[in-house]
Amino acid sequence: MKFAAKTKLIAFVCVLLVAFTAAAVLAQEAPTEHHGINAANLDRSVKPGDDFFEFANGEWLKRTEIPPDRSVLSTFSFLENLSNKRTAALIEEDAKGNSPSGTSARKIADLYNSYMDEAAIEARGATPLRPHLESIAAIKDKRELAHALGESLRADVDALNNAVFHTANLFGLWVAPDFDDPDHYAAYLMQGGLGLPDREYYVSKKDRMRDICTRYRTHVSAMLKLAGFTDTDVRAAHIVELEHEIAEKHLSLAESEDIHKANNHWTAADFTAKAPGLDWPEFFRGAGLSKQKSFIVWQPSAFAGESALVASTPLDVWKDWLAFHLVEHYAAVLPKVFADEYFDFMGRTLTGVQQQRPRWQRGVATVNSLLGDAVGEIYAQRYFPPDAKAEAQAMVANIIAAFRRRIEALSWMNPSTKAEAQAKLSSLYVGIGYPETWRDYSQYEVKPDDIFGNFWRGSLFDYHHDVARLGAKVDRREWSMEPQTVNAVNLPLQNALNFPAAILQPPFFDPNAPAAVNYGAIGAVIGHEISHTFDTEGAAFDAQSRVRNWWTPADLAHFDAATAKLAEQYDTYRPFPDLSVNGKQTLAENVADVAGISAAYDGYRASLDGKAAPVKDGFTGDQQFFIAFGQNWQSKSREAAQRQQVMTDMHSPGRYRAATVRNIDPWYNAFDVKAGEKLYLLPEERVQIW
Ligand SMILES: [Zn+2]
Repeated sequence: MKFAAKTKLIAFVCVLLVAFTAAAVLAQEAPTEHHGINAANLDRSVKPGDDFFEFANGEWLKRTEIPPDRSVLSTFSFLENLSNKRTAALIEEDAKGNSPSGTSARKIADLYNSYMDEAAIEARGATPLRPHLESIAAIKDKRELAHALGESLRADVDALNNAVFHTANLFGLWVAPDFDDPDHYAAYLMQGGLGLPDREYYVSKKDRMRDICTRYRTHVSAMLKLAGFTDTDVRAAHIVELEHEIAEKHLSLAESEDIHKANNHWTAADFTAKAPGLDWPEFFRGAGLSKQKSFIVWQPSAFAGESALVASTPLDVWKDWLAFHLVEHYAAVLPKVFADEYFDFMGRTLTGVQQQRPRWQRGVATVNSLLGDAVGEIYAQRYFPPDAKAEAQAMVANIIAAFRRRIEALSWMNPSTKAEAQAKLSSLYVGIGYPETWRDYSQYEVKPDDIFGNFWRGSLFDYHHDVARLGAKVDRREWSMEPQTVNAVNLPLQNALNFPAAILQPPFFDPNAPAAVNYGAIGAVIGHEISHTFDTEGAAFDAQSRVRNWWTPADLAHFDAATAKLAEQYDTYRPFPDLSVNGKQTLAENVADVAGISAAYDGYRASLDGKAAPVKDGFTGDQQFFIAFGQNWQSKSREAAQRQQVMTDMHSPGRYRAATVRNIDPWYNAFDVKAGEKLYLLPEERVQIW
């Protein structure tokens, strides 16, 4: 799983904060003078033992206002700004270069320019939609519907690396190493069909959620009207009703996270028997998957339920549903009226953002999403020097060694289980900065004046790329993140970690900062990702990434009891009076946070080699370590966005991730935390798993 939530805005990744041109911003970028924790962000009036998040970030929280085009500001968004400024400058440079046609450099320039050419987009109006809407209108029976639903299948879900368990299309494809044969790529299918972020939005009885659903219906109607439909209120009511029924068939996020429920191998023929209703042979023909003999169906009950709905719901409702999803998906590259309506609902209503980001910033995000690896190759060359890579590698080695010692010292774990855990560490692939090979974009056709087509072909290119490797040998060193992405990820089916270049910079990683600060910041991130190798998810995969439970029942019982305590701890956190953190939904991430900071702390102590840590900004080494960790979680969210995160994300809000220091003994010594302070836990209440 990845390290942090990524705010999805208007179907794109996060983009820049400020509205200067990229070149101007880069020119202003001053070298960082200060190396270490940011003392100006601390609120010293708060006791660390009462609220560690406020102590570490309070002054920043007081003086920071979320800009109108943002739903969240955080350490991550600060670094995303930097990464995006750099990326924008690379694209601008590239756009001036007039590279030969067919090269990735030319494609980057053409894609960006086609996005920026608003006059051409306005002049074309809804024309690019027309042939697609006409083929939907021409569907005359459920067999043709099945074909069209198959044609809409895309490689747009990713269960274990990015926690994307559903798509807005009827179903989604994830091509990844086979649970039972991790040397070969298999076809995973996942539930889909919802326009809102999660089933909760449809099934919840809370007033607030019902209100969002009502506003969604208005939005569906408005989009259909823009696309030229009549009777749009009635059509919208039927579409939302259908999605409500689909939502009832969906598994919840917490249920989808359980991989033991997901390992369901179905042959192509099984679908008709196990999920009757949809014409499956026709669906697979439409998807270009007629030759695929077997699939792994992640949420079987959702497939049965959704397939039955294809049979029971009138054809016209399905056709309207298809048309709406088409328009919705492409709104950002259609004329302004479409993009504005989309933003009004998806941005303003769902996340509380007040205004759209400047177009050029969205253009950068578009290039990152469709040609991310091509940009990443240039980015890594420019911004990630070999000495930074060597230094990050040394930290990783130190933290892996800390994990080895911790595993060896565990009193509750069986020796045979320990040996399996050590074997997993030995076969772990750790990617630092950028991948070893780069993706080939030669089959992706980019036209300088056709943004709609560039989008259409881009998602098909991704889909065909993934379908083409079904059954092929797995490359365990393949990355699932781009170098310019500010995040980190554990890939359980490859027993691999990726730490992109863009997260390996201050405040997470600064070669000139004290070791205490680097270990508290990026060290905890590294430890977090390593620990996923052994958590509830990692425990299901052995050193060869095969699904095999390598734990003894007694080990697992101890692990379950300890993690249940952590789930209870998080269930007590209440960001809003009517909404608590879901301890079960966020459990794997919370376990990883505790394990990550513990191993990073050991790695830090080992790096001192017996010497005393220098005092800096008036803080001891241990204090700096924990403050750096607390400052990782610096973040401020709009209420709607925070609510969405609590309901749809496996990561707890930053405030509670920072508070996990209460489980770590040295934190109590570092800040002299005493009984009676709000975060204080009795030693036996502290959750220590690794
Ligand atoms: Zn994680």
